[in-house]
Amino acid sequence: MSVSTAAAATSVCAPLPVLGRDVTVPLVTGGEVTYAALDYAASAPALQRVWDDVAAYAPYYGSVHRGAGYLSQLSTDLFENARRTVAEFLDCRADDQLIFTRSTTDSLNLLARALPADCQVFVFETEHHASLLPWKDARVTYLNAPRTPQQAVETLEKALAGRTVSVEGSHGPALVCVTGASNVTGELWPVRELAAAAHAHGARIVLDAAQLAPHHPVSVQDLDVDWVAFSGHKLYAPFGSGVLAGRADWLQAADPYLAGGGASRKVTRREDGGVDVEWHDSAARHEAGSPNVIGAYSIASACKALTEAGFDALVAREQHLIEKVRAGLAEVPQVKVLSLFGDDAPRVGVISFVVEGWNSSHFAAALSAEYGIGVRDGLFCAHPLVRTLLGSDPQTQGECGAPEAAPGEKSLNAIRVSFGAGT
Ligand code: PLP
Repeated sequence: MSVSTAAAATSVCAPLPVLGRDVTVPLVTGGEVTYAALDYAASAPALQRVWDDVAAYAPYYGSVHRGAGYLSQLSTDLFENARRTVAEFLDCRADDQLIFTRSTTDSLNLLARALPADCQVFVFETEHHASLLPWKDARVTYLNAPRTPQQAVETLEKALAGRTVSVEGSHGPALVCVTGASNVTGELWPVRELAAAAHAHGARIVLDAAQLAPHHPVSVQDLDVDWVAFSGHKLYAPFGSGVLAGRADWLQAADPYLAGGGASRKVTRREDGGVDVEWHDSAARHEAGSPNVIGAYSIASACKALTEAGFDALVAREQHLIEKVRAGLAEVPQVKVLSLFGDDAPRVGVISFVVEGWNSSHFAAALSAEYGIGVRDGLFCAHPLVRTLLGSDPQTQGECGAPEAAPGEKSLNAIRVSFGAGT
């Protein structure tokens, strides 16, 4: 994935229209200012296009896969068309399955429930908690933070080569979980190389594309990943949907993620009083309950909008913004930008930093109260990574929480600015 080449070749385009551009917020100093949303990595604003598409569809909303009526049929068509659009956006293989979920967290938990018995999981300690934690029922190897993309590949290769050999003399199933772009540093991970290493050792790989998909095209086939997961609300489609797409075999062999209507093909009473169930072997197997058609439809709408705008132009624009922000931060000697792979690493518009002499929470609160700039502070649900980058071991107050530091103390957490196609 060559960011700089694309950036050099294409002129900078205009931001994509998003909602909330004109929102004014009060300042503690009096008056008000137009809000500057710089927390896209948490949740990006809705694209105007997504909002318009959803508004146009809303009067025709009906139940999906359930009704004979016109609106139900229409909703079912839109839902299934959305599945095809998103699969195309991800450049899935013809026999891949695409499941609509609630979010990346939901998608990875679904996959974790579908692992074959004895599956070993390999995950870098630098991952977001959504990638780090769902594998609790498997044997997990946490890999140390690499300091270069090459070291990431070497670390994975070494871990996979040393994995347990089963009694039959072959390796059992294994899964590698890796992020495409860090939600802390914005740095791109060498996904294609990690996928090649995983496959060379008979393992599979799932790509956490929560931060990659809003910024770069993600091709399942080109990257050669087995699954990909991302969230609608980070891709300008904030209607409660996410995606898991990839190999069907493990998903179809697993019990449904949720048991209920929609996932079941046939349910019968047994003579002994129990119930027998035949589950669907399509995506429906893991989509029990009434699907979130607006969520799915909105993701498809965002995928179309990004594709039509053209990722080359969007990447060029974002690189221009990244350079501006980093140059501005570099002018302030008290600012230290956090980086795992170094200043020259290709990255998306996610930049975390600390300011010497400032508690990061207070700094972020001041940006909001005094300037109307919305950023994130804390450990960004990536506690081990932020601790490594800060070289400290803060006691957090809670999941994703921001610990307090006494005034003048070393900052125990960080500040993150993030932006994208709508900035
Ligand atoms: N993975 C990464 C890299 C993320 O940045 C996030 C959210 O910030 C997630 C996974 C989880 O996404 P969600 O909260 O939408 O499930």
